[in-house]
Amino acid sequence: MQIPQNDPVRSFRLHQTEYEQAAIDTLRSGRYILDKQVEKFEQEFAVYIGAKHCIGLANGLDALWLTFRILGIGVGDEVITQGNTFIASVMGITMNGATPVFVEPDEYHNIDADKLEALVTPKTKAVLAVHLYGQASNMRKIQDVCRRHNLYLVEDCAQSHGAKFDGQMTGTFGDVSCFSFYPTKNLGAFGDNGAVVVNDDEFNRKFRTFRNYGSQKRYYNEVVGTNSRLDELQAALLIVKLRHLDELTAERTNISRMYLEGITNPLIELPRIRDKAVTVWHQFVIRCKMRAKLIDYLKISGIDTLIHYPIPPHLQACYQSLNIPKGSLPITEQLADEVLSLPLFNGMTDDEVRYVIEKLNQFDGYI
Ligand SMILES: *Cc1c(COP(=O)(O)O)cnc(C)c1O
Repeated sequence: MQIPQNDPVRSFRLHQTEYEQAAIDTLRSGRYILDKQVEKFEQEFAVYIGAKHCIGLANGLDALWLTFRILGIGVGDEVITQGNTFIASVMGITMNGATPVFVEPDEYHNIDADKLEALVTPKTKAVLAVHLYGQASNMRKIQDVCRRHNLYLVEDCAQSHGAKFDGQMTGTFGDVSCFSFYPTKNLGAFGDNGAVVVNDDEFNRKFRTFRNYGSQKRYYNEVVGTNSRLDELQAALLIVKLRHLDELTAERTNISRMYLEGITNPLIELPRIRDKAVTVWHQFVIRCKMRAKLIDYLKISGIDTLIHYPIPPHLQACYQSLNIPKGSLPITEQLADEVLSLPLFNGMTDDEVRYVIEKLNQFDGYI
């Protein structure tokens, strides 16, 4: 059996005729940029998240860097985020000239809220909480620190569409929430796109202006903005997928439950679920001290895996100027050496899941 780590075409096939109809309708409409489909998706997604406004953008990184730009965070300012995140979270901060400050993660791979306050300085302007792998961060404690120190709270929800903490949807805890609809995300489109979600009317106005060359009225430019727009075709496709998002999440949850119940190998550490959190299983991430051997063994068995992420941002070549030496973030660095994401995608069959479980349980540290 050959099992990919991810396979977006299977998700497409689950609702193929609906996607094809939406695409054809949009192609025939003659409307391709900022029109009815984008408006409809923005409304429906805002309702789904439970926030006032959604603003469609070109990708998740734009959502992040535009957020810090609009919050007025730049040179001389600090933003605290977790050490073990995807590089885009950090680039969103540094593209504005601000300095990222890394906090170690807790056992659920998100900001360790108990270590957050010690990192706040007079330069700190915001906290960026990343709901990594689809599991909500410890939001009440993080909100508490932000309130006490008057910091903006930004959520990176690129992996957490529909995830909840304490009954509340991720994306509704902070001032601005950033989403990506990259094809492999839980709410993935068929190309690059993203969005922000906000409650504040003034933020809403600013994002709409910034994404469109800093212009509200055509050919009148208030600020130096950018071109970052969700397009009509992708919006039409996202409307279809959003309609099915809860069933797609249920399917991921089922696969993950099979993994949690089926994998019994003591060499493998299973992911933990935070108290009060409803995770949407963007990834199913195990830990293994013999990861390199496990990867090779699975590969030989026909099973693909991925590492999210092998090199933490502070050790990347592009961030050597931050001067954060190896050993500074021991938990982050250890996770980078041990985490492994198993195959998990919509359209994965029970037979495939059972095969992965069987092979994992047979792993004895030798190939
Ligand atoms: C995917 C992702 C992003 C960036 O989204 P793009 O649409 O690929 O630019 C940001 N943060 C996290 C945590 C992500 O997983």
